[in-house]
Amino acid sequence: MTAQLAVEDPATGEVIARIARTGAAELAAKVDAAAAAFPGWARRSVADRADVLRACGSRIERHHAELSALLTREQGKPLRQAEGEVALAAEWFARTAQLGLAPESLGAGVVLERLPHGVVAAIAPANYPIILSVTKIAPALLAGNTVLVKPSPLTPLSSLRMGELLAEVLPPDVLTVVTGGGELGAALTGHPDVRMVSFTGSVPTGRAIAARAAAGFKHVVLELGGNDAAVVLAGADIEHVAGELFRAAMVNSGQFCAAVKRVYVPEPHRAELVEALAELARKTVVGPGSDAATDLGPLVSATQRHHVVDLVDAARAAGGRMVTGGRRPTGSGYFYPPTIVTDLPPDTRLETQEQFGPVIPVLGYDTVAEAVDRANSTEFGLGGSVWGEPHEAAAVAARLDCGTAWINAHGDLRHDVPFGGTRNSGVGVEYGYWGLLEYTRIRVTNAHG
Ligand code: NAD
Repeated sequence: MTAQLAVEDPATGEVIARIARTGAAELAAKVDAAAAAFPGWARRSVADRADVLRACGSRIERHHAELSALLTREQGKPLRQAEGEVALAAEWFARTAQLGLAPESLGAGVVLERLPHGVVAAIAPANYPIILSVTKIAPALLAGNTVLVKPSPLTPLSSLRMGELLAEVLPPDVLTVVTGGGELGAALTGHPDVRMVSFTGSVPTGRAIAARAAAGFKHVVLELGGNDAAVVLAGADIEHVAGELFRAAMVNSGQFCAAVKRVYVPEPHRAELVEALAELARKTVVGPGSDAATDLGPLVSATQRHHVVDLVDAARAAGGRMVTGGRRPTGSGYFYPPTIVTDLPPDTRLETQEQFGPVIPVLGYDTVAEAVDRANSTEFGLGGSVWGEPHEAAAVAARLDCGTAWINAHGDLRHDVPFGGTRNSGVGVEYGYWGLLEYTRIRVTNAHG
């Protein structure tokens, strides 16, 4: 492995930066520094740390344009989506600062306190590098932990710049950005002074992290992959639902954990829904994220596009019909067209695995029980949605085995609503008060007499 990390522009495939990987000795020194900074940071009051969080948010806000441009450059997403992500990150600091962590009296001299774990490793994925780091950094810091952030090796530039900006308002070594791939993530997870690992990424990586963290009994929060099903009920307004599903499936070129990844529709309505989705796909502009006309940017890497090509080709070989897209474009960059697939036999990999790309498999069903069964039949349990008359949809949504069931919506996440998966989609939750509690351990004082 080289000492440098080459970062590509996924819209061209060109290397745009070479940055140093954090080596083993350097990592050890940085963890030592974070551990040394911990007691001082933990001793400060929650209100004091909240003020620092607000300053972090302002810092990001002030550098909004610069961070957004960097994010589009390395990740590929359309600039207005990058701008939305950076703005949300600034807001996340401000909102997290409003959360409290006061000690609770349980009566008869018993007091419960929420104390920080110590040094926290925050390991982030490549799809939303800024916001998915900040959703860890902000609550971890508010709770009094010190943090080492490891962005994906595909998208480290915006995180490095954010780290520099936040260092201007945070005490030394309270937040450190380290750069590298799986080997660095593993070293971080296994380091004895790292007491918690907060991870967002794929199921196999989550499993490796859980196994490594288990040796040191570290607290873990794992936000893993999803294969969210949308179940459309008979009587739903197909044209309206098509618009909502298309948006929820194609956001960030499908590279969103809680994107719609498969659609179940009553067989008699399948053709109408397929055509409505195909119409939207034909109107979608695919191009570089820096181009204002672009709706859909490239996938983040050649590897990710290869994965999508592989699943779609296998679906075609199994009899799937590509109503739009379905072919890898020629030319530079990691583009893939919006693809609507139907006529699939049950249990193709495009139905059971996570495509993480701009591809919507539309699957017909005969009974609602069958749709629910198929929605629940993968290894994933992140989100799901039901579309139709609200009461009927709510009754079906109650039968989805997942962390968040939406009714006539999909993928909306809120700073004050906990988010997490069941089964292989994860352990623990992020966001809001419940997410903040993950960054703490309970300490009880029991005073008799
Ligand atoms: P990934 O698992 O390939 O990488 C994520 C991070 O883990 C990167 O920083 C990577 O370098 C690091 N890593 C790799 N091997 C490691 C190891 N052995 N130990 C420690 N760290 C290691 O994921 P990705 O491709 O960047 O992201 C896509 C996946 O993330 C999808 O499955 C998606 O659904 C999931 N995701 C989940 C959520 C959620 O909230 N549940 C949100 C966004 C993305």
